[in-house]
Amino acid sequence: MVTVRNQSKHVCVIGSGPSGLVAARELRKEGQSVVVLEQNHDVGGQWLYDPHVEGEVHSSIYASLRLISPREIMGFSDFPFLVKKDRDIRRFPGHRELFLYLKDFCEWFGLREMIRFNTRVEYVGMLDSGAIGRDLKWVVRSREKKAEKVVEEVFDAVVVATGHYSQPKLPSIKGMDEWKRKQMHSHIYRDPLPFRNEVVVVVGNSLSGQDISMELVDVAKEVHLSSKSLDITEGLSKVISKHENLHLRSQIESLHEDGRVLFVDGSWLIADSILYCTGYSYGFPFLDTKGIVGVDDDRVGPLYEHTFPPSLAPSLSFVGIPRKLIGFPFFESQAKWIAQLLSGKRALPSWDDMMQSIKEFYHSRDLAGIPKHNTHDIGEFEYCDRYGDNVGFPHLEEWRKQICVSALVNAVANLETYRDSWDDEELLQEALQSPYFTQLQNEAFTQ
Ligand SMILES: Cc1cc2nc3c(=O)[nH]c(=O)nc-3n(C[C@H](O)[C@H](O)[C@H](O)COP(=O)(O)OP(=O)(O)OC[C@H]3O[C@@H](n4cnc5c(N)ncnc54)[C@H](O)[C@@H]3O)c2cc1C
Repeated sequence: MVTVRNQSKHVCVIGSGPSGLVAARELRKEGQSVVVLEQNHDVGGQWLYDPHVEGEVHSSIYASLRLISPREIMGFSDFPFLVKKDRDIRRFPGHRELFLYLKDFCEWFGLREMIRFNTRVEYVGMLDSGAIGRDLKWVVRSREKKAEKVVEEVFDAVVVATGHYSQPKLPSIKGMDEWKRKQMHSHIYRDPLPFRNEVVVVVGNSLSGQDISMELVDVAKEVHLSSKSLDITEGLSKVISKHENLHLRSQIESLHEDGRVLFVDGSWLIADSILYCTGYSYGFPFLDTKGIVGVDDDRVGPLYEHTFPPSLAPSLSFVGIPRKLIGFPFFESQAKWIAQLLSGKRALPSWDDMMQSIKEFYHSRDLAGIPKHNTHDIGEFEYCDRYGDNVGFPHLEEWRKQICVSALVNAVANLETYRDSWDDEELLQEALQSPYFTQLQNEAFTQ
């Protein structure tokens, strides 16, 4: 299967979040000439906190946000997320610490020189769409924000690493347009102060909905958490019984001009604000593949292994599409596979085989009753290990898997405290003494 090696390609990576950074690194390692185009002024993607929410904003991170997984499971395979002197040393640090980790990653491996900041990609299309299946080339048009300069360049390959937590997904509720009070999506929520003394309805009982409700209770008059299902976790019910002004509500039935919010169980209230914590949609507004790759109800496809559109791969690829897995090491394995395909070290299966695999995957999800909009929710370590096998990427360490599970279990039972108290100390010590953590020992701050 090994074909011609060391063909250096001119590759455009779009985005310098965790996915784009690791893609740039792996591509360069494989001898490609790499240009990263980043619309923002710095690296970090979601982790580049932005307090200004007027106009278009990429990051959905709010001021108080702390990681949902402990730091030791998060790092790339040869760059552990170490505790450092004078920094946020907590196991579940605040968002800035992860931003600093990504900056460190960038400095350590000298990635910054590949990145053109303040450069927004507006169009990506095939140079000659008649050439599909042969030597594809891509036209990339970008706008340099400050000089308002538009640049058009041609690349051999494009890696899309633009993330998928920036395009708010809103429910459609009867009366939404007539309801004249404050309605906003969590994408632009930053802190609870604007909700002081208000009656707030938080829609959506997922991670952000729960987290944000927990900080609103200290400021708002009442917080009503509206959830599709009233069957809630032990952790959430403990929180609700602790706070007198936090109430669980059923789904919203309709909204009314006088400020009334009517729920499906017939109860109602007058609210000041509605905060939608209802998730995000996938979108690639700049990408023109002549209909070959599309987004249908949050299924990006067809994509072989969530990464390669069979008709355009490996010339076009995507990093960071899957959700519900340990992100950074997975993105790294995607990046390695793309880089080694582009250098000719490896080859993809035939078009027929890739399409067949996609068909079988969709079919298996249908059989399991998984809705289309959850196509990219993985939720199993085995998939990540199998994926890594395509490129010789090491399986996730046993301690990493176990710590991940133990944090999830703890969060379900102790929603309010899981980031500060845990009972997997033994696993933690095992991780910290493993070669993974000792590889950069001198960098660590020993407590
Ligand atoms: C509220 C919230 C909490 C989260 N908490 C966690 C957590 O605790 N742990 C965890 O692992 N993950 C968490 N995540 C997921 C997080 O998105 C990933 O950790 C990670 O940031 C994904 O990396 P990415 O590079 O794929 O995308 P992003 O981080 O979104 O980066 C994409 C980059 O592409 C750039 N870009 C986009 N469009 C263009 C364009 N047209 N031209 C040029 N540049 C462009 C953006 O500016 C950005 O820099 C959270 C996400 C949110 C929203």
